Amino acid sequence: MKDVIVIGGGAGGLAAAIETHQSGKDVLLIEREEFLGGILNQCIHNGFGLEVFKEEYTGPEYADQFIESFLEEKIDYLLDTTVIGLRKENDVFFVKTSNEKNGIQFFRAKAVVVSTGSYERTRGQISIPGDRPYGVITAGSAQRYLNIDGLLVGKKVFILGSGDIGLIMARRMKLEGAEVLGVAEIMPHSNGLTRNIVQCLNDFDIPLYLSHTVTEIIGDDNHRLSKIKVSKVDELFKPIEGTEKTFEVDTLLLSIGLIPDVTILDDLEVEIDQRTKSVKVNQAYETNIEGLFVCGNALQVHDLVDNVTLESQRAGQAVNRLLDKGKGDLSRSISLSPGHNLGYVTPQRIDLDFKQEFITLSFRSSKKMEKATCKVFQNDELIFEKKLFFVLPAEMETIQLPFDKIKSDGNISVELEVKS
Ligand SMILES: Cc1cc2nc3c(=O)[nH]c(=O)nc-3n(C[C@H](O)[C@H](O)[C@H](O)COP(=O)(O)OP(=O)(O)OC[C@H]3O[C@@H](n4cnc5c(N)ncnc54)[C@H](O)[C@@H]3O)c2cc1C
Repeated sequence: MKDVIVIGGGAGGLAAAIETHQSGKDVLLIEREEFLGGILNQCIHNGFGLEVFKEEYTGPEYADQFIESFLEEKIDYLLDTTVIGLRKENDVFFVKTSNEKNGIQFFRAKAVVVSTGSYERTRGQISIPGDRPYGVITAGSAQRYLNIDGLLVGKKVFILGSGDIGLIMARRMKLEGAEVLGVAEIMPHSNGLTRNIVQCLNDFDIPLYLSHTVTEIIGDDNHRLSKIKVSKVDELFKPIEGTEKTFEVDTLLLSIGLIPDVTILDDLEVEIDQRTKSVKVNQAYETNIEGLFVCGNALQVHDLVDNVTLESQRAGQAVNRLLDKGKGDLSRSISLSPGHNLGYVTPQRIDLDFKQEFITLSFRSSKKMEKATCKVFQNDELIFEKKLFFVLPAEMETIQLPFDKIKSDGNISVELEVKS
């Protein structure tokens, strides 16, 4: 029996494993790829680490800082090993990714930290009409082909969705000699970080078509993508007749959102939050199943890796506390939910017996707001507020809610308001 099994060797898993091992726990990390670092390995642009290191690193450089500490700690790990599922009592079932001859094996742990990252939405999830040619690929897959395997997936490219991966790939494809004809975004605002709009599109004269979407995909006789049609949409996201433009392209990159990957928890009765598309957790990142923790992009999609690291360190500290001191009274909990102008908020539950100085609340606004104030209500009474000034759905916000402001009963709602 292990003290802790960490699933996933990206920024989240590495931080949680280091944190628990440093407090003397017997830790095993399981990663399905042949290398540690997760998605950071394919993010060769810079912009990582400003918060944690006060310095700007590339993705692989940021990952290396943690891989080095992880290896120095001499933490046990298995690479090329895929976790296929979990059972109650924290049994972790896994197979060798490239060679299944040993069959399915399992380890049991006192606590399990799931940090399996996220996956990309694909064409099937937004039902674009038209042919099914090759040349339609997610932006993250194109990034992996280019930055890890050295393969350029196309030469005349259009991008659907202005999430960060799409914006970064627009610049990357251009730098590699491809023609990037534009980026279409169905929302009236971009879903990427402002700095990426400036540095990846504006600096390279790549047009951004806001309130536009791809309405048809057309293949040639060789089943390769040859054209796409793009239309303006109305407030209900319906294409407006007469606004159609045709682009001759061989590649359409889809950057239409990431979804937390908690598929390995499908067999467990874990409470799900339909807003985050992941599990519900308390302030210790523990699910409703005792000893099962979730953090990083598996819990909520983060735009900044620094927040993944900090969140996963907090999850690791909570695991240490659970293993060292045991569980408090689980019945004394209150729920936390998003109110006006919030897309979601985590954690979704506060356990009153898990006391700490501050609780980190993470959330996204549902619209762009200037001079916004985040207000926390309990039983309709304002218990805490913080000015945020400028918020965007594309940028995750965090606030520190002092624990002593929370009363012992009454659920909590978090809202954003604009001061008039
Ligand atoms: C294209 C892109 C650009 C970004 N740009 C920036 C930026 O400029 N600045 C910034 O700060 N942040 C950026 N981010 C965000 C940040 O890099 C990520 O949020 C962070 O690295 C996610 O870490 P993670 O550990 O949660 O997930 P991941 O890095 O995805 O790690 C999850 C790991 O779990 C493994 N795994 C999954 N399932 C299993 C399983 N069943 N069994 C075993 N292992 C499994 C995966 O192989 C992977 O290694 C970017 C993200 C992307 C995708």
